[in-house]
Amino acid sequence: MSFLRRNRKAETPPPPPPSSPVQEDVSAQQYALKLNYIAKSSDGLRMQPDPAVRGMLPGVVEPLAMTSVETIEPLPLEYSDAAPTMERFNEMQQWVLARGELGPIGRHGLYVLESTDALDMTVDTFFCALLHGETDTSGYPDYAAIVGGLASHWDELSGELIVRAVVGWGGKGQRGDTDRIGQKMLSSLYQQVIATGYSLGAAESARLPAIEGRGGVICQHCGFEAATAGAFYCPKCGMRMSRS
Ligand SMILES: [Zn+2]
Repeated sequence: MSFLRRNRKAETPPPPPPSSPVQEDVSAQQYALKLNYIAKSSDGLRMQPDPAVRGMLPGVVEPLAMTSVETIEPLPLEYSDAAPTMERFNEMQQWVLARGELGPIGRHGLYVLESTDALDMTVDTFFCALLHGETDTSGYPDYAAIVGGLASHWDELSGELIVRAVVGWGGKGQRGDTDRIGQKMLSSLYQQVIATGYSLGAAESARLPAIEGRGGVICQHCGFEAATAGAFYCPKCGMRMSRS
């Protein structure tokens, strides 16, 4: 009995001491992380609608590349939500599954260009390399290193290949001349595409039509759902959409 009584008594907290000091400011250690990622995209160039022209694009990047050029294909339908965002775990998990085979340059390139929306990997094919700067001992580009190359997709109305030059850099740091060098690399890539002689001129819009809740025609070849019902060619695989 005496044990129970003692226990019940313990449930009520003791009254505060009469003169507990009021602390205005609690001392705090501050932690901060400043990340800065920049990406640049050129306007689109229309190219002849020929798979051989697309096959030539790694060779266009090559003379400007410090590493071999990786061809990164658009993602299959089951990975359409994949995104390199740590806090959205399901999207991240898809991204890791879909991109696990890539090397450090390609992975960094996708991370910078997808995070900034310079690439849409549901339709873009990305021909990627290290263009400037250095990597750490594991092969990952440092914050001042510039990665990029060309991005291509098939125009859904004309079936033409639309090619853009894309570059990106950034991370935990900044260096003053990176922007200028990045712009120069972008111009060089764009000029290289024109120099192939297969360009048909500037594309009206560098980007795809904004995809709003999708609801157009579904490609029978790759399963991609075009943004508009008026799509004649699949932006992803370039095959003619069958319209029944
Ligand atoms: Zn398709």
